[in-house]
Amino acid sequence: MEKIFERWYDLININSVSGHEVDAANYCAKVLESFGLTVHYSYFPEDSAKERPSIWTVLDSGKPGKTMLLIGHIDTVGVNLANWKTDPFHAVEIDGKVYGRGSMDMKGGVSAILSTVEYFSQHKDEFSGKILVCLVADEEGLSKGTYQLVAEDCVHADYAIMAECRYDNVAVGFRGRFSFEITVKGKAGHASRYPEVGENALVSAGRLAAAIEALPTLTHPKLKHGTWCVRYLCGGNQNALVVPDSCYMFVDRYVVPGEDEELCICQMQEAADKIGLGNKVDIRLKPRNSPYMKSFAIEEDHELVTALRQSFTDITGENLPIDYDPSVCDSNIVAVSLGIPVVTFGPSGGNMHGDNEYGYPYQVKNCCEIYKETIRKLLKP
Ligand SMILES: [Zn+2]
Repeated sequence: MEKIFERWYDLININSVSGHEVDAANYCAKVLESFGLTVHYSYFPEDSAKERPSIWTVLDSGKPGKTMLLIGHIDTVGVNLANWKTDPFHAVEIDGKVYGRGSMDMKGGVSAILSTVEYFSQHKDEFSGKILVCLVADEEGLSKGTYQLVAEDCVHADYAIMAECRYDNVAVGFRGRFSFEITVKGKAGHASRYPEVGENALVSAGRLAAAIEALPTLTHPKLKHGTWCVRYLCGGNQNALVVPDSCYMFVDRYVVPGEDEELCICQMQEAADKIGLGNKVDIRLKPRNSPYMKSFAIEEDHELVTALRQSFTDITGENLPIDYDPSVCDSNIVAVSLGIPVVTFGPSGGNMHGDNEYGYPYQVKNCCEIYKETIRKLLKP
């Protein structure tokens, strides 16, 4: 078996469900060290047991030039064993598809990165500058792995390829996402005296929920619009004859470029003011352990996009369409927090995050060739 497939299979066979990335990290580190590279480990503060490392390394051509970041995640989502027809942690090929957890998302992409680095470690004359490799933990969680690398200030590059599973097109823009929580206050009172006494916070929250979902968002020619979704409401007491005096609301918000958390909070506060609830609401960004992701889009004619698309055509003879993603991924962090132009493209498959996930061997192989060709174009010696 070719090395690129062997490593893909090996990685699938290593259980690295988000929360226990260490074995996959050690495996990739060993592979990279076998190319003569020095591998660095990075742990986020919550990981006191040191079971969730991200790793990174630099392949230096020895010549001045630009830096290409190749990035992917080593964790996967969990499995529901009962629904799998094969062992999710034992890669097996059936009818041209390789089954196993992470076969699509995204151990094929990681393997393509490893083989790309292997090639250039043996052909330093074919590029200038540096190739930076980041293989991160917790992408399926809160992206703490990537955020930790940002905090450690070790990611500096001119271009980035996010090897996420996406083969039919290249994504150049993503929405961002925020979550907000709102407490709506009412006034308690005995239910028998209502409505003369008491003010029902649930009814106020319902009115506010409708007003929020009717709010406009900014628009983007390709990412279209943002979203407002009231996802959760909670309040009242089934066991007491009391008018509810408080209601908790959870609001989910996808954003397009130009929208940030402050704008969203202002919009919601205005909606509350308009229906007379201005001083009865407390609106805030829902606290979480890692920053929220802002939206971004790079120019469609950026040299990185052009080089990757041309390389796709060079290898496959076909055209690679440009696309935009309505959701978020670690590409948002690369583009927004690190300011590195990033394209998202990698070997794909089917049943992502679901049962019986599979990937396509030819795509893993092609992506490696496309990454190599893109680096040759952009990091010309
Ligand atoms: Zn993924």
